[in-house]
Amino acid sequence: MTQEEIMLAYARKRRRRIYAVLVAVFLLFVGASAVGQIFGDRYGMVTAVVVLVGFLVFVWRDWRCPACGHALGAEFDQRHCPYCGTRLVR
Ligand SMILES: [Zn+2]
Repeated sequence: MTQEEIMLAYARKRRRRIYAVLVAVFLLFVGASAVGQIFGDRYGMVTAVVVLVGFLVFVWRDWRCPACGHALGAEFDQRHCPYCGTRLVR
C-alpha cells in the first residue's frame, strides 16, 4: 500500500465511522422506541442493546490502521498510527 492509498483508506474509515455513529444514534432512539411501542418495552431494550453492541463491534473491527492493522484507539482525529507511526492524514 502506498502512502497515498493509506491516507485515502483512513479518510474512508473516518467517513464510515461518522455514518456508523449517525445510523446507530438513529436506530437507538427511533428504531428502539418504535420496536418498544409495537412489541413492548422489553423488545425495545433488546433492540437498543443489539444496536449498541453491533456499533461497538463494527468500530472495533473497522477502526484500524490501514498499514499495520492495529486498533487505532478512541481518538477520532489521529495524524499517525500509534503503533507503526504511518502518517494517516496529509
Ligand atoms: Zn499502523
